Amino acid sequence: MSLSVQNLSYIYAKGTPYEKKALDEIDLEVKDGEFLGLIGHTGSGKSTLIQHLNALLKPTTGSIFFHGQSIYEKSFDLNQFRQKVGLVFQYPEHQLFEENVFLDVSFGPKNMGLSEKEVKERARYALDLVGLDPSFDRRSPFLLSGGQKRRVAIAGVLAMKPEILILDEPTAGLDPRGKTEILDQILTLHKTEKISVVLVSHSMEEIAKYVDRLVVLSKGKKRYDASPAEVFAHRQELEEIGLLVPQMIYIAEKLNQRGFCLSYDLHEPKDLAEEIVRQWKAAAQKERG
Ligand code: ADP
Repeated sequence: MSLSVQNLSYIYAKGTPYEKKALDEIDLEVKDGEFLGLIGHTGSGKSTLIQHLNALLKPTTGSIFFHGQSIYEKSFDLNQFRQKVGLVFQYPEHQLFEENVFLDVSFGPKNMGLSEKEVKERARYALDLVGLDPSFDRRSPFLLSGGQKRRVAIAGVLAMKPEILILDEPTAGLDPRGKTEILDQILTLHKTEKISVVLVSHSMEEIAKYVDRLVVLSKGKKRYDASPAEVFAHRQELEEIGLLVPQMIYIAEKLNQRGFCLSYDLHEPKDLAEEIVRQWKAAAQKERG
């Protein structure tokens, strides 16, 4: 188990009239090599939780362990931890600042005290991972498209070779094509580099087909922690906390009420259509005897 959150609660402005409990007794495991989706309505506590995962906030109560060691122990190396658990903030491109793409991505490895050669290797490695070839190296990050800027920002975190990559709404503000491209890219680097991913989103539709497991937060509490198909089976309860399951699930549910037996694991319309035809043909054949 690489990262383990135990019984964590967090209260903003504790002891003031503005006191707000943002997280309420959260247990969460991020296992080696998994792709985890963290879902919740605005204000459910997602950002507060991931700031704890990167040790930017300290819990009011509860603890976090990284490879079995408490991250709040005096002897724990927080600098190294923040390299191993990389956090990509919302709109990360707002933090680009160097005159060219290569220098920007080199910033993290340089700060780690690596040699010039290693820094260059890291920067190129990270830019390759996000699909930006060397023709981008000398370009100003500020003159790139929205999707490209975001890739540069993600590369800046990947250059530190994290074991876990946490992304807070990485698709925010991108057009539908840009959204798919960035999520596909994240899935590819998850698979090729075996990086664990925690993907924060408010849309189950958007991330359903990418994640192995979904953790659903509502009002600071963990409501579900299971495979997407298991979570989607709670369609009604999810709607009550302001979350819609993917459209495909509504179709499957309606058809299942009419005698089909469709799995909630099907994420592509083509796969669902094929399965509907297969079951329909099988039923017709049975009827013919
Ligand atoms: P999400 O990321 O799911 O939108 P947040 O973690 O940002 O949720 O917020 C969780 C709760 O904590 C919300 O009720 C929000 O208003 C409150 N909150 C967030 N940041 C602060 C803050 N700096 N001070 C006080 N309350 C906050």
